[in-house]
Amino acid sequence: MKDKKKKGIDLQWQILIGIIAGIVFGILIYQISGPGVSSGPIFLMKVFFKYAGDIFIRLLRMMIVPLVFASIYMAVVNLGDIRELGKIGGKTVAYYMATTALAVLLGLLLVNIIHPGHGIDKEALAALNISTSIPHEVASQDVSERSAAVIIVDTLVNMIPKNPAAAMAEGDVLQIIFFTIFFGIMAAVVGRDSKPITDVINGLDMIMQRSVMAVMVIAPYSIFCLVSAIFMDLGLDALFALGKYAFTVILGLLLHAAVTLSVLVMIIGRYSPIKLFKALSPAIMTAWSTASSAATLPLTMDCLTQKAGVDKKITNFVLPLGATVNMDGTALYESIAVIFIAELMGIDLTIGMQAIIFITATLAAIGAAAIPGAGLVTMGIVLTAAGMPLDGIGLILAIDRILDQFRTAVNVWGDATAGIVVGRLEGGISDEIDTK
Ligand code: ASP
Repeated sequence: MKDKKKKGIDLQWQILIGIIAGIVFGILIYQISGPGVSSGPIFLMKVFFKYAGDIFIRLLRMMIVPLVFASIYMAVVNLGDIRELGKIGGKTVAYYMATTALAVLLGLLLVNIIHPGHGIDKEALAALNISTSIPHEVASQDVSERSAAVIIVDTLVNMIPKNPAAAMAEGDVLQIIFFTIFFGIMAAVVGRDSKPITDVINGLDMIMQRSVMAVMVIAPYSIFCLVSAIFMDLGLDALFALGKYAFTVILGLLLHAAVTLSVLVMIIGRYSPIKLFKALSPAIMTAWSTASSAATLPLTMDCLTQKAGVDKKITNFVLPLGATVNMDGTALYESIAVIFIAELMGIDLTIGMQAIIFITATLAAIGAAAIPGAGLVTMGIVLTAAGMPLDGIGLILAIDRILDQFRTAVNVWGDATAGIVVGRLEGGISDEIDTK
């Protein structure tokens, strides 16, 4: 009977309860034990929670390579028409570029209106002893070589894997997408002789879809552990000291998600954004908790096809590509963060510099990996292009994780809205679930 009751609560509510309980519990522990506990039962609990969260993220990531391979292959074979593939691809890339640019513009607009770096209590900031040492990944990046043009050409050329097996072993999603599309087209060209392979991959596709649902059974518990562990470490003092900056980033993310992207969903996608949000809520909350759009990808695919009614021929392309290259939240955050750092450091940025930030933030977001903290790493490119010292990153490190959670949720939302818009343009939305 107990079991029955548990099944009655929808997954999204279970996840939400996990998140809220995690925040409350984490803050409570932080208040009791303070920062930097390195021994004793609280420390052991923290370690246990981190492992429990990590298991969930690993299980999701374990699914990405076989899921992306099988679903893209099946989509290409079922489409059977390269021109249609080209049309879907072209519209998807155009949507991704346009929405990323809009996100950066909004970020620049807000930061220039709010000026989060002005009026910050520098003493409170100094008292927090925020590390000014930059993360190893940022420091070791050869940003000087990574000009805007190099990033574009690099990304395009690197899409072609030298060895598809290595691409799969490394989990390089862009390379896997390229290889699978090529492989699928060739299977369609070969025709009847490729049928045994197609049957096997179809089976793989089914198994992987079912696996996503199986893993989601532990989601509410793992998310509770993940979120608690984060809040046990997150100094609320830091959040208050950098409050104006955090407010600007979160406001920008909300406006981009609720206004820009939602209007596109309504007008071009002719779909209710509220209905889309309800369908996507388990994925959005998982993105918020894990701060990884890659780890969330299997779930985003499931929600958009099963609950929002978008045809797999659309989601199978749009979402894996989006999880890898489309990061509206990251782009918006980078533009605000760089100008905030400039304001804190007393650097005056001209309109010309801001134009450079606009271009490089867009590209840096495309180049960011879909994992926690990736946006912070590629921000080095934007800082260098604007002629600013990399050390500035140290000033925002303390609250990066929490902002990462918000920007990742918007990244996933951005990918899903592309599924609706491209789906509508290409006749790939089921009319039963559609809200037209
Ligand atoms: N964590 C983000 C994501 O996975 C990337 C970032 O750091 O902005 O989408």
